[in-house]
Amino acid sequence: MRKVVFVFALLIGYLGVVPTISSVPLSVRSSPSTLFAIRPVTSAYARPPRKRRASTRKPALPLPAYYRHPRWLGCKHFEIPVSKCRAAWRTSRIAPRHALIIALLAWWKRDLENTPQKTLDWLAKRREKYFRVGEWWFDRRKSDKIYHLLEMIDTLLQPHLDRYPQPLYREILQKTGALLDHPAMSMPRQTALTSRLSRWLARRTDAPSIESIRTLMQRSMLRHRECPWWFLVFLQTFAPDALARFSKQKISPSWCTARRLHQEIRFRTPEASDALLRTLAKRYPRHTRLVPFGKSYEGRTLWALHIHAKRRNPNAKSVLMVGAQHADEHMGTEILLDLAQTLLKKHKTPHVRELLDRIELWLIPVLNPDGKHFDLAGGVVKIWRYNRSIQPDGQIGVDLNRNYDDHWQPFRYVDRGRVNLPGLRPFSEPETDALRQLAEKLPRLTALLDLHQYGRVVLLPYAYAKKPLPNDFEDLFYKIGQYLIETNRYRTFPAHRLYPHQGTLGDWGFSRFKALSLVLEIGSASYLKPTLQAHTTRQDLKLIHRFLSIADDPFQKIRSIPLPPPDPRLVRRTTYTTPTAQ
Ligand SMILES: [Zn+2]
Repeated sequence: MRKVVFVFALLIGYLGVVPTISSVPLSVRSSPSTLFAIRPVTSAYARPPRKRRASTRKPALPLPAYYRHPRWLGCKHFEIPVSKCRAAWRTSRIAPRHALIIALLAWWKRDLENTPQKTLDWLAKRREKYFRVGEWWFDRRKSDKIYHLLEMIDTLLQPHLDRYPQPLYREILQKTGALLDHPAMSMPRQTALTSRLSRWLARRTDAPSIESIRTLMQRSMLRHRECPWWFLVFLQTFAPDALARFSKQKISPSWCTARRLHQEIRFRTPEASDALLRTLAKRYPRHTRLVPFGKSYEGRTLWALHIHAKRRNPNAKSVLMVGAQHADEHMGTEILLDLAQTLLKKHKTPHVRELLDRIELWLIPVLNPDGKHFDLAGGVVKIWRYNRSIQPDGQIGVDLNRNYDDHWQPFRYVDRGRVNLPGLRPFSEPETDALRQLAEKLPRLTALLDLHQYGRVVLLPYAYAKKPLPNDFEDLFYKIGQYLIETNRYRTFPAHRLYPHQGTLGDWGFSRFKALSLVLEIGSASYLKPTLQAHTTRQDLKLIHRFLSIADDPFQKIRSIPLPPPDPRLVRRTTYTTPTAQ
């Protein structure tokens, strides 16, 4: 077979039909030896490529482009012949797909059973100490492979979930669920597995499977004397009565981390945030305007609070501040609402009058109300980051801060252990698109602040790659960062230093408006306790007031502000190597 492919490849290469490797048919691409064979004949000596006829073959599945990536190549990691994988991937018949899913699950089970005793002991010890939500990266390297496996199963199952025969669907649920309780199962894998199960069951329910998964979860929770977050979310969603009954009997809140944390945190729901905005707008009608600028995916109104001077200056600059793009980063909302309250309360003071004469503020405390509602609803926080839009493949949620039109990148499943859900195209989501329309309408937009959580850092552009900003912006941004963090000892550096991430509001804000576009990562934890919340808010408002003091003309104003030499522990500069012309 390989020989035939080789000759075929040579023939195609000779005819000059294959200008680049990307247009090689998938069947040829899979084998490394054929790749090697093609290269010499596509050299400069090959004939110029002929115009290719448009392919008349229809794609096998009605899936978005990012889902047609040949992920079946991953089968080689799981001791399954790639040819078998490919066949199952390309057909829309259920039987071969189901067989492949079962084979993948069997591999996972074997892998768990083959875990050496030493690892099991280590895991048990770690679990005793760290079996908590916050410690889920400890076997990240290994779980990347498992994420890949889960992603393959998901891709095979999700597009056909509606017409999957019930017994086969149940078989998958039972087999997947049974893995949850395995002693070699670690927290990250459990999390990944439970969130998948939740997604499938949310689209298509199955009472017996839910019942058996519930039993398994409860057994596991009792054995480890712990209630992992995703177990709670699962039970809350699919078996709330079981959770109530169970917690009364066995699990005391004192060692149930997730539950305890939830009892302590106090964040405003989107409804409470909207109510406060309405109150402020009513109380200060001469200084505010409450502007509905769009609707979320689930139909909630997106509100912006426009704060301006009583007698409006026609030359005032616009400043935009956005909170809670990521649904579980609640502090952004809290701080913006606090800012609005303080400014309006003090609107008669000379400081605020002078400020509002120079700038008009546009505050959006909640850009992602659907996600925020989901994260806080039902009594258990769910660490939910995305919005709630349903994608063509049945997945729920897009990361709004990857959905802007600046170096936007399509879906990649694992990006150094992170799931990247950027949507189908830039501004595919109603929330980001509404923000774009609003921002483009604002007159003289000079500064934009995007509030996130957490890290105690002011992030400068660019996020998309290790690239310097044009002209002297690089230097000016550093100076502004340094000026802002003087108030509260945050750190400042370009966002790509965290990890490169594309399609962000921060980058788009700079490239689209040439504005001072910054990201503030608030505080030192994701769900802050009330005492810490108040402290963080006070600290960050100082920083934000500095931001506002230069926001009308930031790049000119920073030039005239004397700054002490930068503290290298706080201001981390990136050195760029200039590419030399070749
Ligand atoms: Zn964020």
